[in-house]
This record gives sequence, structure tokens and C-alpha cells, in this order.
Amino acid sequence: MTIKKCPICNGPGEKERQVGKYWLSKCHDCGFVYADVSDEQIEQVNFNFGDSVKHHYCEVQSSIDALWFERISSNLTQGKKGLKVLDIGCGNGLLLRQFQKRGCVCFGSDPSPWAQEYAQKYGYTLLPRIEEAGLAPNSFDIITATSTLEHVARPIEHLKYIMAAVKEGGMIYLTVPNYGSLPIRLRLVKGRLVDPPGHCNYFTAKTLKNLFMQKGIKEYISYTRVRSYGIPEIHAVYRLLSKKIPTSVKSSHDSMPKRILLKRALINIYYWSGMPFGFGDKLEAWIVKNSAFPHQVFIA
Ligand SMILES: [Zn+2]
Repeated sequence: MTIKKCPICNGPGEKERQVGKYWLSKCHDCGFVYADVSDEQIEQVNFNFGDSVKHHYCEVQSSIDALWFERISSNLTQGKKGLKVLDIGCGNGLLLRQFQKRGCVCFGSDPSPWAQEYAQKYGYTLLPRIEEAGLAPNSFDIITATSTLEHVARPIEHLKYIMAAVKEGGMIYLTVPNYGSLPIRLRLVKGRLVDPPGHCNYFTAKTLKNLFMQKGIKEYISYTRVRSYGIPEIHAVYRLLSKKIPTSVKSSHDSMPKRILLKRALINIYYWSGMPFGFGDKLEAWIVKNSAFPHQVFIA
């Protein structure tokens, strides 16, 4: 059977490794790793999320995630109010709620049948899939897509839609699992992040940067930064530590409960410890779309 061509550069694929009944392929030309499955298979598994995924969201997404998203939304908005934000793959709205706190006008997009329930509950607008939403060009100040690009059958086309929808000088923030992470390099992580066909794209820092260099995308980018972050064990560590600190205990130098200070410290450990050597659990990308104002300076 022929191996599917690379979804980034259309180069020929070679067998990389078998995961369950699926094969991952590696592009001979650009080194991108992807699941050797059809677009239809990817659609079938990724756009029919039921109640099990809903419960998974609620169990896995902890207050650590909320603090992490607080940090992202703070860095992206830079204190500006009234920004128009779209979160692709918004799930239960955890990230959008952080943007709402910062006075943003919030839109989400998520194929899950239960996504509308959360949109109504928290008061943001749920749009159809970005490919079908008919968005006006240059309409959002910020577009975020955390842990979504690994699920998309056609990443270039998807990113083109994002690039078109963000305003000139606007920001795009993406995260994906890091296929170059230490546990994956050592073949220690099997099920969680290496999970075809649901996860069909396996980016490393190098292949993610290469995605941004493709024709039809690179022309619209004035700044990008890609780096790895995160360690996978953070939730377990937090659960272990937080059990030992009663919620009522206050720290001596601050009125903030110790639990919050602990979380803040863990967020920093989580973020920075994944950075050296690009071995972190995830990759994040900051992108600024070409600005009509050449003197605009971007500060991360
Ligand atoms: Zn390729």
C-alpha cells in the first residue's frame, strides 16, 4: 500500500513507527511525522467528540490549567481592553473565560456537540468550524488554538484560514504536543500524546517552524517564536503537594492563600523546566501577522 504524502510539503513518506494498528510516517523531504491515515478517518475520530471527552476535559483540566491560561491571556492582551478574540477548539471555554476577565469580546469554535452548552453558560459566541464560518478577513485581534493543530488533517489550509481571519498586526498563539520531547524520544510516552488517528500531526520545533515557512503562510508573518515548555507530571505533582496544605493556611508575607502561591510556583516550574534543549512536553508558537504599520514593535 502506498504511504500517504506529507501534509506539509507533499514529499514522499517513509514508515517511522507503529502505534497500535496505525503507522506513523516520516516525510523524506522535510522530516515531518504524521499518521498514515485518510482525511476521512481523521474527521471521523476528531469531529465526533461525545460525553467521554467532555468528562475528560473536566477531569484533566484543573486549576493549574486555569492559571496557565491566565498567564497566556495576560501576555497576549497586554492590558488592552475590548480585543476581539477567537479560540479554536475552545472546548469548555476555560481559556476564553480568562480573556473575558480581561474585557475581550470572545468567540469560540469547537466541533464537540456539547460546546454550545458552555458557550451559553459563559456568554461567548460559538462559531462553526473556521473553514466553514465565512469569517471576514482581518477580523480578530487574537486567535488562539491550544492543542488543536495535531488533530487537523490539512494543517496548511487550516493555518491559512487562521492567518486570513486575524487582523494585520494581530497575534496568533498555538500549542501542540512536542514530538521531540524527552519522554517521546525515549519512547516512554505511548498513549497520551502519541495517539493516532486522533492525533494525526506530530510536530517538532523544526517541523513546526517549517510549517510557518510554507508558501501562502510565510508571506503573512512578520514575527514567530517557537519554543518547548512543560513537563507531563505537573498534575500529579500538584495533587500530591496540595493535599498537604490546608486551604485556610495563609502565607506570612502575603494575604494570598499558600495554595495559590504554590500553584503560581508550579506554573513557573511547569513552564521553564520544559524549555532546555527543546525537550518540553509541548511546543508553543507566537505569531504576529504582517502589520500595515512597519514601525510597530512586538514585545513578548
Ligand atoms: Zn514534508
